[in-house]
Amino acid sequence: MTDATDATAAPVTSTARGILYVVGIGPGARAHTTPAALAAIADAELIVGYTTYIQLVKHLIVGKEIIRTGMTEEIGRARAAVERARAGARVALVSSGDAGVYGMAGLVFEVLRMIGWKRGESPELHIIPGITALNSCGSLVGAPLVHDFCAISLSDLLTPWPIIARRIDAAASADFVIGLYNPASGRRTRQIVDAQQTIRRHRGGDTPVALVKSAYRKLQTAIVTDLDHFLDYEIGMLTTVLVGSSQTFVFEGYMVTPRGYTNKYNADGDAHAGQRPGYSLVIGDAVTPEAACDDEDGDGELTPHGDASPAPSSTTSREVA
Ligand code: SAH
Repeated sequence: MTDATDATAAPVTSTARGILYVVGIGPGARAHTTPAALAAIADAELIVGYTTYIQLVKHLIVGKEIIRTGMTEEIGRARAAVERARAGARVALVSSGDAGVYGMAGLVFEVLRMIGWKRGESPELHIIPGITALNSCGSLVGAPLVHDFCAISLSDLLTPWPIIARRIDAAASADFVIGLYNPASGRRTRQIVDAQQTIRRHRGGDTPVALVKSAYRKLQTAIVTDLDHFLDYEIGMLTTVLVGSSQTFVFEGYMVTPRGYTNKYNADGDAHAGQRPGYSLVIGDAVTPEAACDDEDGDGELTPHGDASPAPSSTTSREVA
């Protein structure tokens, strides 16, 4: 039976019924591959993956059958993995980061749907989570994702650019921290320039931006710069770009997006006057309603969002739900 809830990914030795492990191996270094991913790779007899990712796990797969293909052969790779597993093999399809984040997991389901696979049939599926680039890259520059963030891929190979451009504009206007996957490649260099211009319309030029390349791999680099200057640096296929929100700051070279604790508490952990632990943040007059509040359900109640920082003294306004 397909066991989508199996948290252990315990190897199963099956006979006719194959197993398809869809494995996120994390950013690169073995220490950042989960034990469950390692167990799945160890249990598999056939390993399928893009050449670079196979390289990253080559020490784990000695003696196993390997199907490696180039970047543009994803459908072939997914089909090969599904078909061999359906026929009874134990297969690990490896993807970098998390297979479910711009990875192979979606394509696996598209192939399964095409061939009319049903739950309970061969192969048994195990989707093994991995550390995605947002997590690994974020960790190398500080704590940029501690408040609301989103991920946008700038690759227009499969998604029309106008859709991507609309999402960048929406994310920028809503003050999300934005993680840009696939920011550029040898041929694709215009998108990141367009993205910069769009985001700049909504945010200051000194907004922190991090460029992390090859996180937890040999040629790792991590740069913290800002919105007006990040295009001066090399950005390629192995780079993730993290653009801060209006609240993100740089401290000792680290990029930090605060959760908002100082809106409510002082350094001793005591609530500011007028604030109550466990209750919605009380917003003060220092915050313009347009910038920080929405009348979400049209009932005249203003609901705060973002990390707008009221002056601790101006706590006269009513509590909001
Ligand atoms: N499934 C992967 C993402 C694949 S899309 C994941 O979950 O991380 C490929 C993009 O991911 C790259 O263009 C880059 O933006 C980002 N990426 C993947 N691995 C990375 C790493 N080790 N360092 C920096 N960025 C990485």
